[in-house]
Amino acid sequence: MVPTNVIPFPDTQNSKSYGVCPECGRSDGYINLGIEHWFICREHNYRWLVGSNLFDSWKNQTVAQTQSAGLLLDGFSEVMPAKSPLDVHARLRRQFG
Ligand SMILES: [Zn+2]
Repeated sequence: MVPTNVIPFPDTQNSKSYGVCPECGRSDGYINLGIEHWFICREHNYRWLVGSNLFDSWKNQTVAQTQSAGLLLDGFSEVMPAKSPLDVHARLRRQFG
């Protein structure tokens, strides 16, 4: 299934304050689950909650979109995000450097 309700969030400056994947330091955007915003990393199947009602995009979603968002998010594991890509790179350097 190709997710259609993932909202791209390419601005790395913004993604710093909303966290990044703890494995790769990236995110693929977010999904609205009702009023909640979940960021995801498709490569690692991770999701993390950044909050509720931060972005107006959730208000335009239909019930059907919310249900499909729930199904989609079920396939992702909830994790604690890293604060920024720099944190991830620093940790990887400690592990492998
Ligand atoms: Zn990742």
